[in-house]
Amino acid sequence: MGDAIFLQKSGIIGVGIVANCGVLSPQQLMGLARLAQELECTACKLTTRQTLIFLIPEEKLPVLREGVEGLGLRIGVFGETVRNVKACAGSSELCQRSLSDVFRLAGILQDRFMNRPVPNDFKISVAGCHRGCTEPFCADFGVVATGEDSFSIYIGGRGASRKPIHGRLLAEKISGEGVLALLEHVLARYQELAQPKERLCHTLQRAGWEPFQPPADMLASFQQQEEESDFLQFLNQTTP
Ligand code: SF4
Repeated sequence: MGDAIFLQKSGIIGVGIVANCGVLSPQQLMGLARLAQELECTACKLTTRQTLIFLIPEEKLPVLREGVEGLGLRIGVFGETVRNVKACAGSSELCQRSLSDVFRLAGILQDRFMNRPVPNDFKISVAGCHRGCTEPFCADFGVVATGEDSFSIYIGGRGASRKPIHGRLLAEKISGEGVLALLEHVLARYQELAQPKERLCHTLQRAGWEPFQPPADMLASFQQQEEESDFLQFLNQTTP
């Protein structure tokens, strides 16, 4: 567990930089360009997890750290820890298909959970609709919007492997607040049940699905709000 800094065969280092779920402001983009020139960055690589890798000489790392923090960005994390959140462009400004503002939810998830210690890599993906552009079905914890402030949650997926695994549906029609609570619940059970360095999909295979099921009252409390709003919607439609 540590920062996403990797020594390359050529002797330079690759440093992963994390933005707010892959979205940069023009000021951050210009700041990064200035840093890249100043630090003799040989190339910048966009990754599938929405990070940006800077390839720089090792002695330039302290300046890069300072510059990145000054731009409101951060160095990524690696190892047995919750990674940066991969989120689609799901908001009214970035993708018209989005059923909820998942970009905002993903930002909260990243701020609250990124870098939390776990038995092995833990990847979170969030998508604004079932197209799943960010592959939420192949994440340890996948979130898919199904309506305004209503989400389905999948757990135990795994991508980037010779045998990819689809996650299993944990809960439906959960509010954004409920997504945060269920993630806390899944992480607590994972910490408790996993063997050292065991990936969540393997813990689920070994320990079974049952221990990960949220208590019924917890589930109901986060689904209740939508049932109420569905009911209000029904009333609005039927009232002259
Ligand atoms: S998952 Fe849906 S909302 Fe998100 S970018 Fe893809 S099409 Fe748009």
